[in-house]
Amino acid sequence: MEKTRAPRVPFLDLRAQYDTLRDEVEEAIRGVLESQRFILGPEVEAFEREIAAYSDGVYAVGCASGSDALLLALMALDVGPGDQVLCPAYTFFATAGSIWRLGAEPVFADIDPATYNLDPASAREQIARCTRLKAIIPVHLFGQAADMRAFQGLAREAAVPVIEDAAQAIGARDAAGQRVGARDTLACLSFFPSKNLGGTGDGGMLLTRRRGVAERLTALRSHGALSRDEHVEVGLNSRLDALHAAVLRVKLRHLDQWTKRRQENASFYDQHFGAAGAQPSSQPLAAGGLPLRTPAPASPPAGHTYNQYVIRVPAERRDSLREHLADCGVATAVYYPSPLHLQDCFASLGGQPGQFPAAEAAACETIALPIYPELTHAQRDHVVASVLAGLRSA
Ligand SMILES: *Cc1c(COP(=O)(O)O)cnc(C)c1O
Repeated sequence: MEKTRAPRVPFLDLRAQYDTLRDEVEEAIRGVLESQRFILGPEVEAFEREIAAYSDGVYAVGCASGSDALLLALMALDVGPGDQVLCPAYTFFATAGSIWRLGAEPVFADIDPATYNLDPASAREQIARCTRLKAIIPVHLFGQAADMRAFQGLAREAAVPVIEDAAQAIGARDAAGQRVGARDTLACLSFFPSKNLGGTGDGGMLLTRRRGVAERLTALRSHGALSRDEHVEVGLNSRLDALHAAVLRVKLRHLDQWTKRRQENASFYDQHFGAAGAQPSSQPLAAGGLPLRTPAPASPPAGHTYNQYVIRVPAERRDSLREHLADCGVATAVYYPSPLHLQDCFASLGGQPGQFPAAEAAACETIALPIYPELTHAQRDHVVASVLAGLRSA
């Protein structure tokens, strides 16, 4: 009898998703082509309304990318040279890059090793050192909401606003059951193709409850123009294209179902790794047990939307485990191999190894496994078996 071949497991399979949507997507694209309205316009306006409703928000302003959403948010708060903005040392580069681009100083803080999100205690320490703090940016990393109550409290004490970097976490709920972007903050979304709501190119959006802020953002994304030739300030050319918005509107209708599948895949991994002796990242590893930690599951009403499912192994085992998985046909990724305070471009800020131990440990120990909604049962089984085999053959 022929043995069934182990399936290959790509890290993300966008084609598998496209195969389920082809007709709807092509019809949406054809609609835009027929309209010949390519930048902003009715498709973008409709998409903005739908995302505001989906996020329990009020105003939504589309722009060209998640990175630009962060930049526009900081511009709308008048962040400029000499100002300081707090953000985690462990996140995608754009969080800090946007601060730097305005001539402001990113002030890094450490993360909570259980959730990988900004640690309120470390944030408090860093804020105490600031002399010109202008904003706080918690990141909802990997699809799990940061501790928003804590950060809104810190922001109130420091009398600065909060910008939520929600690029990886559309639809996630925090511990109080609030959607990311629903609070009185400025929240930034990304529609980069690998995000949970991924477009056909770059795209982003801002959410706010404040009408004045929404109006300023609307001007800032179009060269600071109130009307075509009337510029109240200098802004960017950062607009959302109608083709992207039309496709994203189709995909938004499927987002909850895809998030549910991501959560089901995560709970499958949690259960099988747990049964083999793994511990959640909120618990210490048992001596002599399996050297594997799984993501700390969010307790209801919070919801983890698993843009990434990130496991943790001892640093000296990470590369060999990734190689073993590659040999098994299981693709993995590392988010992020270097914390931001140790990046060359920020060397002038004086970051030192040892400064943010939780961020530095995460950078050496984490591996993201395939978690996309279209994973088959055979693929999931193969991921679990391959990880366990790799860890057992020391
Ligand atoms: C993807 C991402 C961004 C930037 O979004 P782009 O649309 O790629 O510019 C910002 N912050 C975080 C945490 C991200 O994951």
